[in-house]
Amino acid sequence: MPAPHNTALPSYACPRILAGQKALVTGASSGIGKAVALGLGRAGADVAVNYNTKDEIAREVVEEIRGFGVQAIAVKADVADEDAVRAMFKTVFDAFGTVDILVANAGLQRDAKIDEMTLEQWKAVIDVNLTGQFLCAREAVREFKRRGVREGVSVAAGKIICMSSVHQVIPWAGHANYAASKGGVDMLMQSMAQELAPLRIRVNSIAPGAIRTPINRPAWETPEAYAKLMELVPYKRIGEPEDIAQAAVFLASDMADYINGTTLFVDGAMTCYPGFATGG
Ligand code: NAD
Repeated sequence: MPAPHNTALPSYACPRILAGQKALVTGASSGIGKAVALGLGRAGADVAVNYNTKDEIAREVVEEIRGFGVQAIAVKADVADEDAVRAMFKTVFDAFGTVDILVANAGLQRDAKIDEMTLEQWKAVIDVNLTGQFLCAREAVREFKRRGVREGVSVAAGKIICMSSVHQVIPWAGHANYAASKGGVDMLMQSMAQELAPLRIRVNSIAPGAIRTPINRPAWETPEAYAKLMELVPYKRIGEPEDIAQAAVFLASDMADYINGTTLFVDGAMTCYPGFATGG
């Protein structure tokens, strides 16, 4: 069995396949969102880094992105707040002129058994994970429709990537609000893709498995927890945020132009029913 903590990803030369494109990544000051924002910048896009707390950390991400020779700005906004989302897009348009790529990534968990779950816990998760994606996608689509294809920049009029989860298909006891939000993201994504495809707007999801970020720290921070987690991961390593970033760069690029309305699972085969690996 490979060493469980050997998760270093190979370094590779990144072609600037997103040169000239303008991207907005929500929840981009930590974890997956940060890696995606860096990945898009490294691929040549100008990047708006949305965050809702900790201005200093967002500024550090912006500085790191600027190191790739592209523009970057930090935009504070609660993605569950309609007015704040509108204001965020206006800030992006003022800085970049338009937007070509939205990565609707911001998300949170408020875990509880179903009979102990408060309405507040339910709403907090649905408001950010599902309504937040709707609010951001709506503003992006308005801009994509207004502007159309930017010749020489991308063959699509716009790309939306929804950050879903393996829990859009795997039920999750004790996390019904989270699983319901991601199941909702799946149908939101597919319905938007169907509606917007004739306008050359592509909408897809990424469904991460277990990725090493703050959201699931208890699942990987001790060797015992890590070993338990690996029972669910046939590939026998935790995912790194960069695994998701590479998928996002691909989906946002014209290399993925015929990919529309689908979910790319980036999960080390977690959705392949590992419990059946030894017969079942
Ligand atoms: P994370 O906690 O590091 O990132 C979530 C980010 O969203 C944080 O930066 C947080 O500040 C931001 N956020 C939360 N509420 C917000 C709001 N109202 N407005 C703006 N930003 C807000 O965790 P992560 O693992 O990087 O999660 C990113 C996304 O990936 C989430 O949608 C999560 O559901 C999804 N995901 C993560 C995993 C995993 O294993 N880490 C697996 C599947 C899906």
